[in-house]
Amino acid sequence: LYVDFDLGEAMTATLSREHVVYLVTVLRRKEGDGVILFNGRDGAWACRLTDVSRKAVTVEAEARVADQTPPSYLWFGFAPLKVGRLDYLVQKATEMGAGIIQPVMTRFVQGGPPKPDKLFANIVEAAEQCEVLSVPRLESHVSLVDLVRDWTGFHGDRCLLFCDESALSGSPVGALQGLDPDRRVGVLIGPEGGFSDEERALLLAQPFVLPISLGPRILRADTAGVAALAVVQATIGDWR
Ligand code: SAM
Repeated sequence: LYVDFDLGEAMTATLSREHVVYLVTVLRRKEGDGVILFNGRDGAWACRLTDVSRKAVTVEAEARVADQTPPSYLWFGFAPLKVGRLDYLVQKATEMGAGIIQPVMTRFVQGGPPKPDKLFANIVEAAEQCEVLSVPRLESHVSLVDLVRDWTGFHGDRCLLFCDESALSGSPVGALQGLDPDRRVGVLIGPEGGFSDEERALLLAQPFVLPISLGPRILRADTAGVAALAVVQATIGDWR
């Protein structure tokens, strides 16, 4: 269970009301029961519930049961989708090893930027389920133009894999395997309506952008996100 706690010298922590609801009402934990907690910084800890009230739960840490996993620097940018699909996309991106997750606002996005709390709740839920102890970082939404400007400053150090259904390239595997191992990698997925012609031209003009095709079919945006991250995992892993 992910809880942003600090153990301190006494090796105890008091958890908030929302975790009380989850631990006591959902998981039906009682005083004396054990729970594994992680805070995204200090590995995973076997803890015992020492004090359970309706407002707070106090836990005592007994032993570290897993070391902290190093953060992934794999960036995943996506144009926001409708709510259910967005939940899926963010959960799967976490499971597939994204370490930095950022909504990117493009011309054909329907509606406004997604709610960060909801996105982060999905990230945490996925991190808990796949036991990744370094919870991906959620960055504030950014416009495509600002994203390109930001990345331009790092163009020698980063490579942005632009998922483009009209890319003429074949399999992206060779291009990925040829990347300098010191370069950080990002994956960018467009909205339901795809990127506009101007947005495609802007991306393709950047030296740090590598357009990749995920095959000759137009995938749903959420499918494309999972497929692209799987290709990255299979070729270069998620360590950068
Ligand atoms: N209308 C569908 C939907 O509702 O999701 C498909 C949208 S598709 C245009 C959304 C994004 O998925 C594209 O902007 C692109 O980033 C990615 N994509 C889909 N198929 C792809 C392919 N074959 N190769 C590369 N990227 C693809």
